[in-house]
Amino acid sequence: MTESFQRPQPRDDLRALEGYHSPQLDVQVRLNTNESPFPAPRAFLEAYAAAIAAADYHRYPDRGAAELRAAIGASLDQPASRVFCANGSNEVLQTLLLTYGGPGRSILVFEPTYALHAHIARLTSTGVISATRSDDFSIDAEYACALIAQHRPSIVFICSPNNPTGTVESRATVMAIADAVASVGGVLIVDEAYGEFAEFSALELIDEARPIVVSRTYSKVWSMAGIRLGLCVGPEWLIAELDKVVLPYHLSTPTQLAGTLALAYHDEMRSRIAALVEERGRLFQELSGRPGLTVMPSGANFLLIRVHGDGHALWEALVARGVLVRDFSRWPGVDECLRITIGTHEENTALLRALDAALEEQGYA
Ligand code: PMP
Repeated sequence: MTESFQRPQPRDDLRALEGYHSPQLDVQVRLNTNESPFPAPRAFLEAYAAAIAAADYHRYPDRGAAELRAAIGASLDQPASRVFCANGSNEVLQTLLLTYGGPGRSILVFEPTYALHAHIARLTSTGVISATRSDDFSIDAEYACALIAQHRPSIVFICSPNNPTGTVESRATVMAIADAVASVGGVLIVDEAYGEFAEFSALELIDEARPIVVSRTYSKVWSMAGIRLGLCVGPEWLIAELDKVVLPYHLSTPTQLAGTLALAYHDEMRSRIAALVEERGRLFQELSGRPGLTVMPSGANFLLIRVHGDGHALWEALVARGVLVRDFSRWPGVDECLRITIGTHEENTALLRALDAALEEQGYA
């Protein structure tokens, strides 16, 4: 049937936007989206099922997610008033952009980095200033501070560990950038979606006197990517602003229950983190010994490798062997690179086996 009306067009500034691309293929070993390779603990799933069965669904959820915020705050040694929760850290970031971004304002990002920072900025009509990183993918603090003084962005993003490079910024860099951002009246967002895997966290810098907010997620170490829960920690006055902007009742009762109950498994999560960090070390060693590859140091649950040849062809050769990693080979700044999520010991071994066959097939000596 032909349409008898003129199709409504999206906002002019959205026309050129592309959606978020992260191809999913049906393969045996999936090391492409940085989730935990381990399912949530059985005891957690049982407690969660019981709590869901007992909850009231004819009433809206607790709008302030008070119990969840208090539990998260206690686990991070912070008052509940400094914690904000949303459906994944992507929604946390969106709420921050809706609050502190907008027309006439801009964000500063250091590329290559997590694409959603610039994407959400565009969705909220916020300008994007793209700066580069040093050759080792770290942020040069002096350069960053000069850019902040010049452009006076409303928001500066530091992704640490950075996706897709794995780079962890030092305390000195974060502090210097925080001071520069504060002096122009902006907010520093430290995206720590992979923070638990790194040795330094900016959480220790959270203070009422600094405009720093740190975002984290339940999607990685907590094995809850399918539930969608993220959070941020920041000064009380900033968290209060986010509460005014986010939609009422956005966080469902099951999500709030999951987030609270999961915290009882803190010790188990710590040992999972240790296991993944150990596997990261093993894979780093193994990959460094392969011909035709450079492996970047990583403080996250993934490793970025640069292929000394056709990265996309190697990605295809891995897919053909049932292993899916993330193809960044055509991305500016990480050309010919592939990002490998740290999986279980068995998955990582399967990756190495597939990689050896693929490298041989592609003629890497
Ligand atoms: N930040 C970074 C750097 C990420 O890599 C991701 C997940 N890909 C997110 C935020 C969003 O995670 P979620 O919405 O699942 O919490």
